[in-house]
Amino acid sequence: MVLTDIVLDKCPRCKEGLVFQNSNLFAYKVVKMNAKCPCCQYSFTKEPGFYWGAMYVSYGLSTLEGVIAYIICRLLGNTAFDPVNLWIVIGTMLVFSPLNYRLSRLVWLYIFS
Ligand SMILES: [Zn+2]
Repeated sequence: MVLTDIVLDKCPRCKEGLVFQNSNLFAYKVVKMNAKCPCCQYSFTKEPGFYWGAMYVSYGLSTLEGVIAYIICRLLGNTAFDPVNLWIVIGTMLVFSPLNYRLSRLVWLYIFS
């Protein structure tokens, strides 16, 4: 299944090799991508600037996480314009940013492969 392969960091062609050199989704460091699949040699670098488009996916993911955090704040009893909501939403987006970085690149790669 495609979603499982994306989360597990698998190559879009062979579903065996890893796209990133470290498969930990919450690694808080810059994680490098493999240039090619270690199993089938499928190139993960399509063209220069290919992953700029992954910013759109990352934007969507972080917005979704922020909206979910805001809804949870409201369900826990915070008022609509409580400043605490803002800090919780920003904190949520920062905590999930390494995950968004990887997932957005993987989604972008799967879309165009
Ligand atoms: Zn492969």
